[in-house]
Amino acid sequence: MTEPSRRLFFALWPDAPTLEAVLAALRRNLPRGIGRAQRPDQLHLTLEFLGSVPESRLQEVLDAGAALSGRTPRFEIVFDKVEHWKRPEVLCLTASATPEPLAAFVQALRSELLARGFEPEKRPFKAHLTLARKVRRPPPLATLQPLPWPAGEFSLVESTTDPSGSRYGTLATWPLAS
Ligand code: ATP
Ligand code: MG
Repeated sequence: MTEPSRRLFFALWPDAPTLEAVLAALRRNLPRGIGRAQRPDQLHLTLEFLGSVPESRLQEVLDAGAALSGRTPRFEIVFDKVEHWKRPEVLCLTASATPEPLAAFVQALRSELLARGFEPEKRPFKAHLTLARKVRRPPPLATLQPLPWPAGEFSLVESTTDPSGSRYGTLATWPLAS
């Protein structure tokens, strides 16, 4: 029998005021009805995508997260652009600059995963927030007021599929250093 697996990723969830600010900016700047919009309560920033992990290795992933608990300083990401990515057909918010503590944090996460025998992403990290999927053509885009996203904690998230699409559930959350 094949072992059950879980689809996992590390992510940042917005705090309530940040989510409100993002949704307000989208209402002002995005035309309605493009592609399949991300559900507002599922808006997240992926730090590292693991994909399918055998159930028996979940604890190692949790250990990788726990190893970084309270270790790296808090940071703030400023989203300042809406981009259309042609190949994945997504519309996303992006940040012109990756704050140094965020880049260091993703690197540390990748190291912890590598040390436990996982195969972390090799491409450079680029912060993005997916707003809509299945967007074939770029819609007319207004310029965006810079949107600050403060991060004080990070989470391990599981993605499951139901008829309306992917759903994300938080498995564990750890603090950044204060
Ligand atoms: P769906 O696949 O149903 O359209 P989704 O892409 O949001 O929805 P998942 O595929 O489970 O759901 O992905 C979870 C998160 O990981 C999302 O933020 C997604 O952008 C990201 N992700 C998915 N696949 C990869 C990948 N191969 N590399 C990097 N990030 C990925
Ligand atoms: Mg996907």
